[in-house]
Amino acid sequence: MIYLDHSATSPVNPEVLKAMEPFFSQEFGNASTFYSLGRTARQAMEAARENVASLIGASPQEIIFTSGGTESDNMAIKGTAYKWKNKGKHIITSAIEHPAVEETCRYLEKQGFEVTYLPVYEEGIVRIEDVLAAIREDTILITIMHANNEIGTIQPIAEIGEIARKKGIIFHSDAVQTVGKIPVDVKKLNVDLLSISAHKLYGPKGIGALYVKKGVFLEPLIHGGGHERALRPGTENVPGIVGLGKACEIALKNLKKDQEYVTRLRNQLIAGILENLEESYLNGDPDKRLPNNAHLRFNGIEGESLVLHLDAKGIAASTGSACSSKKLEPSHVLMALGLEKVEAHGSLRLSLGTENTPEDIEYTIKSIKEAVTTLRNLSPLWNQ
Ligand SMILES: *Cc1c(COP(=O)(O)O)cnc(C)c1O
Repeated sequence: MIYLDHSATSPVNPEVLKAMEPFFSQEFGNASTFYSLGRTARQAMEAARENVASLIGASPQEIIFTSGGTESDNMAIKGTAYKWKNKGKHIITSAIEHPAVEETCRYLEKQGFEVTYLPVYEEGIVRIEDVLAAIREDTILITIMHANNEIGTIQPIAEIGEIARKKGIIFHSDAVQTVGKIPVDVKKLNVDLLSISAHKLYGPKGIGALYVKKGVFLEPLIHGGGHERALRPGTENVPGIVGLGKACEIALKNLKKDQEYVTRLRNQLIAGILENLEESYLNGDPDKRLPNNAHLRFNGIEGESLVLHLDAKGIAASTGSACSSKKLEPSHVLMALGLEKVEAHGSLRLSLGTENTPEDIEYTIKSIKEAVTTLRNLSPLWNQ
């Protein structure tokens, strides 16, 4: 199988798995106990915290382990909203956030918070002038993702962060799609809070982290034994944490090389399709996008049928986010680009990984051409 859905999840790197294994068996200690078994777990956990911090230019004390990107987003957004609700109740976000951010904002709206959803236009990118215009006296939080999980567009996080800092507004970014794929430095990006998930960077599912800048305070969402600076109590998921740490260590070591390699494959794929298949288009900005993302649109077909045709040819791809692909509504991200519903439905997301080869990409181009041609021949939309 050729796996081209790395934005949904990625395979666990064998080195990551190897690093995790002892913590399921002989090193099973509770990291909060004081005898040697517990100390070994604690040390492994703290080494992992250093690896996560190094990858994003943070210090280890600023890393809180969570169950993944969804929890990190909830912790950042609700934690800030509840902490500062007496100061103001206005939040700024974008129209293309992952459901972990979008639905959290919608939930807060039901509790009396007001949320501004910034437009992203045809290129899929938030504009600085819109951020400036949206800021109010009572704005307590800006939350804008680093790169979009569907169309892969990269947002001007450093610039938005600079504005937020000057105005004294807390700034959170969901960086689940960028950490390990492009350089992410919390200081250069001017963020106060940043979400990470292990399974998007060749680590295990169910583990992630939230960067919480020193001096930034959150209201805890769960209460218990005081672990993770009382922000995330509960016995630590040591194997998962070790896996996340290893994935970050490997990502840092290979970042430049992987980024270049995957970008080359991605460009080969986009050119191979756009040059050889009529009425095919790239969604979102062609340059300000993740190195591994090709989000394509084909007139006269349905993305779901194309995904099934590709599956039959041994290619795993997606129409958009794994989270919304069960609903038949067009994705809110594609609608935010100003696409018509039929155009949105004709879209395909290919997200590449380091294990893909140029031969995989050639085969994929050929398979997409065949599948799109077959589907168009059957389509009343195409043949009218
Ligand atoms: C995958 C993803 C999440 C959710 O992360 P989980 O670890 O699966 O909860 C959040 N935000 C973005 C941008 C994602 O791509």
